[in-house]
Amino acid sequence: MRLAGDHERPRDVAASASGSATALPIAVRRLSKAYGAVPVLDEIDLDVRPGEFLTLLGPSGSGKTTLLMAIAGFLRPDKGSIRFGEREVVRLAPHKREIGMVFQNYALFPHMDVARNVGFPLRLRRVPAAETARRVESALEMFQLGGFGTRRIDQLSGGQRQRVALARAIVFEPRIILMDEPLSALDKQLRERMQIELRQLHERLGTTTVYVTHDQREALTMSDRVAILDRGRIARIDTPRAIYDDPGSRFVAEFIGESSFLDVAIANGIARAAGATIRADNLPTRQGRCTMVLRPERLHLLGPGEGEGMNCFEGRVTGAVYQGDTLLLQTVLNGGSPVALRLTTRGGEGPPPVPGTPVRIGIAVSDTVLLPDEARGAP
Ligand code: ADP
Ligand code: MG
Repeated sequence: MRLAGDHERPRDVAASASGSATALPIAVRRLSKAYGAVPVLDEIDLDVRPGEFLTLLGPSGSGKTTLLMAIAGFLRPDKGSIRFGEREVVRLAPHKREIGMVFQNYALFPHMDVARNVGFPLRLRRVPAAETARRVESALEMFQLGGFGTRRIDQLSGGQRQRVALARAIVFEPRIILMDEPLSALDKQLRERMQIELRQLHERLGTTTVYVTHDQREALTMSDRVAILDRGRIARIDTPRAIYDDPGSRFVAEFIGESSFLDVAIANGIARAAGATIRADNLPTRQGRCTMVLRPERLHLLGPGEGEGMNCFEGRVTGAVYQGDTLLLQTVLNGGSPVALRLTTRGGEGPPPVPGTPVRIGIAVSDTVLLPDEARGAP
């Protein structure tokens, strides 16, 4: 993997040394790329707002890296346009795009020490040595790497290497930062801490950022908006909350969060599922079928006489999994649909209901999400 500019003569890049720190918007239009007959990016339109933290989220092979590499300039699309602000960059070499880039494998130079790795983009831009030293030191401080400047890369832990890669990406104050699964090699605890740190760094720097992950929780944690990729197309782009609360399609609902699904039959404007009449704020049709999305934490286990004003279902318990902060209760509704509930444990409640126990389950009308039939079943 090449780094921004490392294949170019330094003189070429000196002229483009970073100036303004103003955040830039990115506008991608009808961007397409195919390998042989297989489209990998299929007429992608994407707007990243100035200063926004936007995450590309999708399953493996959906085109995330390809799209990011096209924005960075390491990959030439077959057609389409990419603008940074007013400037068309689709034919511009990577080093002229003024992008800070963090690759999945960090792509550090093993033969250079930490300070030389971090200072690389500045030397490339012919920044004077004293200024380089000062900016490297402050980038190292920012990532708690003060005093590590003379360490060799192979003397660092995975988490420290990852910080070196981040320091190198921001040291020349790029106007756009691109990151491809930068936390995927870290263990869970460190990854979750770095998610918060990266988010805070973004709030300080305000640099337009495009971040790639296949981890939906990471995307929800970090992003202003999330673009969900499905086989080279953007299936949905919105805020984490909007996507979670109203996924709009079964593919998105399955990819973000946990869900159970019920088939709903609608006749004369009356919807029925699993033997119950359903009320919802927006019926997608007066006649036909749709799918109901049930998020496990929005479901209530109802006692006798409870559930007034809710959509209520009857079923029985099939299993219970204690997970510390929550209890995952597995049920099957009358009619055979499996539905999972996530109940908060507060201590003091008795043992969970044993398999076979009849239960009533409720969901508020305002939490009742129906997907139109045409959005069903991503093949
Ligand atoms: P993601 O990052 O979402 O996992 P990629 O953008 O890496 O996905 O890849 C998208 C699709 O393009 C995959 O099916 C992958 O196999 C294919 N692909 C990527 N690069 C190449 C290449 N150089 N030659 C052929 N196919 C490729
Ligand atoms: Mg990838």
